[in-house]
Amino acid sequence: MPTYPEPPVTFVRGEGSRLYDDSGKEYLDFLSGLAVTSLGHSHPAVADALCEQAKTLLHVSNLYGTTVGPEVATTLDRLIGDGQPAGGRVFFCNSGAEANECALKLARRWAGPGRHVVISAYGSFHGRTLATLHATGQPEKHEPFQPLPEGFRHVAWNDADAMDRATSGEEVAAVLLEPVQGEGGVNPATGEYFAAVRRLCDERGLLMIVDEVQTGLGRTGRWFGFQHFGVQPDVVTMAKALGNGVPIGACWAVGDVASAFRPGDHATTFGGQPLATAAARAVLAVMQKERVPERAAAAGARLGAGLEAIPGVAGVRGLGLLLAARLEDADARTAASAALDAGLVVNPISPTALRFAPSLLVTDDEIDEAVAIVAKVLSV
Ligand code: PLP
Repeated sequence: MPTYPEPPVTFVRGEGSRLYDDSGKEYLDFLSGLAVTSLGHSHPAVADALCEQAKTLLHVSNLYGTTVGPEVATTLDRLIGDGQPAGGRVFFCNSGAEANECALKLARRWAGPGRHVVISAYGSFHGRTLATLHATGQPEKHEPFQPLPEGFRHVAWNDADAMDRATSGEEVAAVLLEPVQGEGGVNPATGEYFAAVRRLCDERGLLMIVDEVQTGLGRTGRWFGFQHFGVQPDVVTMAKALGNGVPIGACWAVGDVASAFRPGDHATTFGGQPLATAAARAVLAVMQKERVPERAAAAGARLGAGLEAIPGVAGVRGLGLLLAARLEDADARTAASAALDAGLVVNPISPTALRFAPSLLVTDDEIDEAVAIVAKVLSV
């Protein structure tokens, strides 16, 4: 169906930070399939895990026990606790939108009848299902699909007073925020904002749900974006990087919140199946061995400094290896298209900014090469 524009190029192979199209042309991938292939393309540990699991057990449904998913859940719980068990439980699904759907249903189930409203921010992106579309704070995306499910309100981003006013009603159950608004333009939250929201949630008995679908698993220079801000959320959603390209999502919730769900409240056929969780287990093992948060912080500093020094770049924003370069007078769409022709995959995240989300294992040489391509593109 025509939900996307005609693709400018067809890729047939990838290895590390490199992609190859159907004519054999090589590209440097600084988008990672929208922040998904955080370990680069065709990572051998993920490929081996998939092959091995495919020969062992692919799927039995969630009516029966399996061994891989619980292992991945335990690892995620420890990463959310920054090295210590965080006391949570995990629901596995297949995408970011599904992880957020789970969080939204859990919030309603936990809060009980009459308390169903979720407050999110303008400029946010939480998915394309009807509920996550309404949670997404971009009203222009809502219009063709009205009426959307009831119970979503939006407030100005990074504005604690606006959140204070919006969360005062009896019917509010939860707040849903990204640590860095990714699709909304790569705009980080401030530490004061997250701390103020946590305080409001504690005072009013609301759930703080953090959407780490784009920011989670090392990309921002910490395991999870919220860890920059010194707060602990009640619910954390993730997807993208968890499978390095294998579709998997997860919704983590602290124990007493998670136990609001009863058997039959929520379900999935594929979620948590051995094939997808075997990929996630391999991804998390490599990520821990390679200390990807530290690598992302260092590589992000190099990439940011390189981009900032380019004439025509007005500034760089973001955290770790989720960055946007604001262009002085070039149109970002034209610049991204010229970069693609020159062998660099990036995307225009707004009319005036390019987004960079390379592999977390990107090398210094690859960063320098990408910066040189951007400089060349902006110089013409
Ligand atoms: N939440 C955030 C922060 C995202 O960036 C995205 C996708 O870009 C989603 C949710 C939706 O994820 P998916 O496309 O896997 O449904």
